[in-house]
Amino acid sequence: MIQLFVPLNFLGFVYRELKKSLADTARMFRLLDVEPGIGDGPDAQALTATRPEVRFENVQFGYQPERQILRGIDFTISPGRKLAVVGQSGAGKSTLARLLFRFYDVDAGRITVDGTDIRELTVASLRDAIGVVPQDTVLFNDTIEYNIAYGQPDADPTAIANAARMAHLDGLLARLPNGMDTLVGERGLKLSGGEKQRIAIARAILKSPAILVFDEATSSLDSHAEQAITAALAELAADHTTLVIAHRLSTVVDADEIVVMDDGSIVERGTHAALLAADGRYAAMWRLQQRESAQPIA
Ligand code: ATP
Repeated sequence: MIQLFVPLNFLGFVYRELKKSLADTARMFRLLDVEPGIGDGPDAQALTATRPEVRFENVQFGYQPERQILRGIDFTISPGRKLAVVGQSGAGKSTLARLLFRFYDVDAGRITVDGTDIRELTVASLRDAIGVVPQDTVLFNDTIEYNIAYGQPDADPTAIANAARMAHLDGLLARLPNGMDTLVGERGLKLSGGEKQRIAIARAILKSPAILVFDEATSSLDSHAEQAITAALAELAADHTTLVIAHRLSTVVDADEIVVMDDGSIVERGTHAALLAADGRYAAMWRLQQRESAQPIA
């Protein structure tokens, strides 16, 4: 009886582990939304630049041929600079990040990294060079340390701890009895949206990518969480070529350039100060957000 019980118990363990890892993989793929047709061309080269320029040249794109989403997008992010994209929901902001990551290819125009069309780069080297802080970070059912080091299993614990500190997670870690070893995810400690996003920032800091894409969460955060994220992002963006897809204008004030999108086109561009002085679409959005944030919470 015991002999039978042990293997069954072991099989149960294997089954649970397998199920867990399949669920994690399935989630990862949903997160990445991978397009099957994307692959390396015959002469694809590896991207080696550590501080590349990112350029969108007359980029046109639609998820379906009958519905154009991007209608000729032009911008350049110089090495180490930060460009922020703002605009109404559905304007096409996150689509820019998906194209840069090559989940899809452009229909017309091109995207270059350090002067090379991204279709001429190996997909793996392009994606390795980009650190994404997504809107909704899915945590794995594992420790905080595992979640920060995800994708870099050989990471040094000191480097992980440094990344956590730079992402302003030290306050949270100090409050947890098991610190970095605390289990999180569906079966562990539930973290707030802002805490999860800081874990994603720590992951990006550890990866230290050449290009950083920050897709800001739409959900509102309390002002403390927002300040922590803004500070963590500023530290991370300081020496990376950064694309920020912003929903809260407070995160874009320090951007080198802000582009305002509407229905797949850029309708305004400039620095925060220049756009306020122009008193157009951005200035109206800014006034609206200032009024909203001044209102007491019901
Ligand atoms: P938000 O601020 O709400 O995140 P956004 O400006 O980032 O919006 P996108 O996510 O880029 O907008 O979407 C632009 C348009 O493309 C939307 O109309 C959306 O419905 C459509 N879209 C997004 N993803 C897909 C997809 N996988 N298939 C078809 N249409 C899509």
